Amino acid sequence: MIIQLTDINKTYPGAVPLHVLKDINLGIEKGELCSIMGASGSGKSTLLNILGILDTYDTGEYVLDGTLIRNLSENRAAELRNRLIGFVFQSFNLIGYKNALENVALPLFYRGIGRRRRNAMAMEQLERMGLADRAHHLPGELSGGQKQRVAIARALITRPSIILADEPTGALDSHTSREVMRVFRDLNAEGMTIVIVTHDPKVGEQTNRVIRISDGRIEPVEQDA
Ligand code: ADP
Ligand code: MG
Repeated sequence: MIIQLTDINKTYPGAVPLHVLKDINLGIEKGELCSIMGASGSGKSTLLNILGILDTYDTGEYVLDGTLIRNLSENRAAELRNRLIGFVFQSFNLIGYKNALENVALPLFYRGIGRRRRNAMAMEQLERMGLADRAHHLPGELSGGQKQRVAIARALITRPSIILADEPTGALDSHTSREVMRVFRDLNAEGMTIVIVTHDPKVGEQTNRVIRISDGRIEPVEQDA
């Protein structure tokens, strides 16, 4: 298992504390393409953020690629996150004043890779996404589907082991949504582990396993009689 959660609980503190994740047990194997589905407010993003070491949990155990994720320093968390995880978000999170190539190359800048090599690697990822001809366009000049493919190229450029996507098709029409899901399916066929949070059953259908979450709990898998 590249991801193993055992009895994970999380409560958001406050005047009225919110027990948002309840006894979560979940294993995800290397090379899986799975979705996490549930109603708005059921805890999907919280769960994904824990998987991506963007958020912490209170009790239980999270083992990511053999490493226990608990009480990590900011630096160690960032190091693991940068090495293992690529993120894709509903709102793309592209930088508006940087063109597609620069957006894709940015994670390499933070790794201290020189401009020439950065740009060559970014162009290679854009080519994979069928966007070579958009490399010098700003995000504002791209369609929603193109923006999301740029964001996927950016997530891939550090060669992560896992892609975590939070409602990646949430801002896209159904045709474009299928196009983006095709990209995820192709990446998965090459061996990438992909976890997609969605409330869209059509997106869930295009993954190989649907994990259902309801009010902070994972629903038991229905077994055939
Ligand atoms: P989903 O992604 O399934 O819509 P979330 O994980 O974003 O659900 O949120 C689950 C619940 O936790 C919601 O009731 C939400 O309002 C609450 N919540 C999310 N983030 C925070 C936070 N930082 N502090 C307090 N409550 C939060
Ligand atoms: Mg959410």
